[in-house]
Amino acid sequence: MARAIYPGTFDPVTKGHVDIVERASCNLDHLTVGVVDGSLKRTMFDIDERIGMFSEAVAHLSNVSVQQYTGLTVNAAREIGATVIVRGLRITSDFEYESEMALMNRRMAEDIETICLFSALEYQILSSSRVKEVAAFGADVSNLVPPNVWKPLVKRLEEQKASSK
Ligand code: ADP
Repeated sequence: MARAIYPGTFDPVTKGHVDIVERASCNLDHLTVGVVDGSLKRTMFDIDERIGMFSEAVAHLSNVSVQQYTGLTVNAAREIGATVIVRGLRITSDFEYESEMALMNRRMAEDIETICLFSALEYQILSSSRVKEVAAFGADVSNLVPPNVWKPLVKRLEEQKASSK
């Protein structure tokens, strides 16, 4: 049993992310979802919105907390006393990126181990970017994101549409 960090952009959290948190947290003392602030990616939701949505989606899990971090994930892990970094792996898209990242993190911090959980079958082709993309064209994504995320997502897309007119 250990403390772990599950880092990511989570813009916004999807059911694939929540599934990873649910399955990882069963095997851990504590899991911190680390929502990265100020990454190079331009996000649709700001840091407080992303934290708020993820916190609500995992409120049923007593050993999970959600907080922001900036900079290197290994430093954030050390700060909270985590010895494990949890990542999710979709069969077709993530292996190369995740293995490079894990090797780089091990180079910087040998005492921190990356553990990847395979994505559930139903979430293999699910990503935050795909959700935003298809929702922008009017697709119903309500079964791909936690119930609390769907409304803010539709609202933000409407705001973006209105401001681009
Ligand atoms: P990042 O910007 O770090 O890639 P993401 O929010 O896109 O952040 O993803 C965070 C983590 O969740 C990554 O390990 C990613 O592979 C994993 N992940 C993303 N979507 C899914 C999914 N549908 N099923 C399982 N894991 C996923």
